Amino acid sequence: MKKVLVTGGAGYIGSHVVKSLGKKGYELLTIDNLSTGHKEAVLYGDLVVADLSNKEKIKELIKDYKPDAVIHFAASIEVAESVQKPLKYYRNNTANTLNLLEVLNDLGIENFIFSSTAAVYGNPEQIPIKETADINPINPYGQSKAFVEKILKDLSQANKNFRYISLRYFNVAGADPEGQIGQSYKNPTHLITRALKTAKGEFEKLYIFGTDYPTPDGTCIRDYIHVNDLADAHVIALESLLSGRDSDVFNCGYGHGYSVKEVVETAKKVTGVDFPVEEAPRRPGDPAVLVADSSKLRKELNWKPKFDDLEFIIKTAWNWELNKRF
Ligand code: UDP
Repeated sequence: MKKVLVTGGAGYIGSHVVKSLGKKGYELLTIDNLSTGHKEAVLYGDLVVADLSNKEKIKELIKDYKPDAVIHFAASIEVAESVQKPLKYYRNNTANTLNLLEVLNDLGIENFIFSSTAAVYGNPEQIPIKETADINPINPYGQSKAFVEKILKDLSQANKNFRYISLRYFNVAGADPEGQIGQSYKNPTHLITRALKTAKGEFEKLYIFGTDYPTPDGTCIRDYIHVNDLADAHVIALESLLSGRDSDVFNCGYGHGYSVKEVVETAKKVTGVDFPVEEAPRRPGDPAVLVADSSKLRKELNWKPKFDDLEFIIKTAWNWELNKRF
């Protein structure tokens, strides 16, 4: 079976992809610095605790392992933090990816899947967003990923054997329906997790950041995708690369969105808790609407999402929140 190196495989999305690939019989090695990940989340393959800033160590590991492909998740992911600490984002997301790519290039490892983001689009002119839309990030997080996409494009043009697929994630949410893994951050900032933790009583109230956006109810609209459907997108992207597909970029979302207020209402319904909510000023760096046009992923890679249902997404996250293993 093929060998896959997964950076950030102990994190939220990475661990779901490791589980999906492990179930299919892939041989796996996760490299993770455990800054936000958990060793218990890695259900298949080996885990080495290492940081991508340590290029020599990474090179030794990869040279020994000789993967057929690399899936690169390891990154910092909070828009608001990136506005406060841009250098952290350019270091972790851009410079460390450059380290990894240099190592892969030196070792002749040529299949690469990259965790990109809808944040590369900034405030898009057209909704739903196609992959051909302008790359115009409005926060350092999006910019840090956009730089990598450019590097990947240039590298694949310079070296025709190097092929990559960049997956632009919209708002990833939910947890493993089997309850083994889910999101577990010390200071979660994402809407669904904050709402559920408020329902649980871990936070006093949920703040709605901005009610004056140009949307029907004034709150931001996002395309929430279940983490297992996103994991499936990685599996098919990997398989298509391994069977010789050219480099490409795909949006990962369902193609429709929900406002912050709609998410809050659904979270109240699923949990049965009428938790306190307060309207607050806008959060810096947030675009009003991000909804994917995912027809390319559906048509070209034959992606068939199974969990396009906000209530189901929130139910799986709630189940995890109540029965966490780490
Ligand atoms: N949001 C909110 N309250 C929170 C967390 C998030 O109102 O406690 C809003 C946020 O401003 C954005 C949307 O929910 O409009 C989605 O934010 P999230 O951090 O979940 O994901 P992002 O879109 O930033 O990746």
